[in-house]
Amino acid sequence: MHLQGKTALVTGSTSGIGLGIAKALAAAGAAIIVNGFGDADTIEAERAALAVLNGGKAVYDGADLTKPEAIAEMFARADKDLGGVDILVNNAGMQFVSPVEDFPPEKWDMIIALNLTASFHTIRHAVPGMRKKGWGRIIATASAHSLVASPFKSAYVTAKHGLAGLTKTVALEVADAGITVNCISPGYVWTPLVENQIPDTMKARKMTREQVINDVLLAGQPTKKFVTVEQVAAVAAFLTRDEAENITGANLSVDGGWTAG
Ligand code: NAD
Repeated sequence: MHLQGKTALVTGSTSGIGLGIAKALAAAGAAIIVNGFGDADTIEAERAALAVLNGGKAVYDGADLTKPEAIAEMFARADKDLGGVDILVNNAGMQFVSPVEDFPPEKWDMIIALNLTASFHTIRHAVPGMRKKGWGRIIATASAHSLVASPFKSAYVTAKHGLAGLTKTVALEVADAGITVNCISPGYVWTPLVENQIPDTMKARKMTREQVINDVLLAGQPTKKFVTVEQVAAVAAFLTRDEAENITGANLSVDGGWTAG
């Protein structure tokens, strides 16, 4: 329980990787701010399950991260009710698959807003409090697509490369303040985000579902296995430990060897 007394905001923690990271941090004793969209009853059940792990300290904030004012309100609430955010996990993200010439401009704007700009806003709100305490952890769920590209994902790849750059820049700025800033770059993890892109990928590449899974999703992962949510969450939890205080500005691949090739 190395995170007793700390508060973690995990964006996009109503589903997939974010929920897995929230569980791992709650199991280590952190109070959790759950964020993301979804069915109200399901979210309440998830929040209650997290509170069982850490002794009752889980709240939900449904801030839409594409709206800077909603992010500001979420941080104001965290400061007032929970003594600020000690661990910030920028995890929320979305995907859209289309050839660049057909890519809807509003989808581009939304992906850049959620997958990149939201992290700028959360970081700028989180850093002052972390500096005051002399301790902080900022972790982003980036992607193998922060390091390499795939066709038909122009907005996503652009945003994730930007997130990797933001991570390195902020790491340098706060390095002497007890704050580490890193990103984790998973390969394909079986979550709703991956499931939902299969139909558009079938269309864009003229493939069957099985071909998309084997010849696109797992083609680049030498292990030929999907990464699990728990594997990504374990890396995030390790980054919050004292042993990880000299890991900063890093982009940690959890991608079955994808970006080694
Ligand atoms: P997911 O679809 O299961 O979860 C996405 C989360 O983001 C949900 O909680 C959703 O409600 C939330 N969200 C969406 N729009 C939001 C908004 N406007 N404001 C607040 N929250 C919002 O997806 P996932 O696969 O768990 O993805 C999590 C992160 O991991 C994303 O950044 C994604 O790019 C990254 N990632 C995923 C994979 C993968 O293969 N699944 C691989 C590499 C990186």
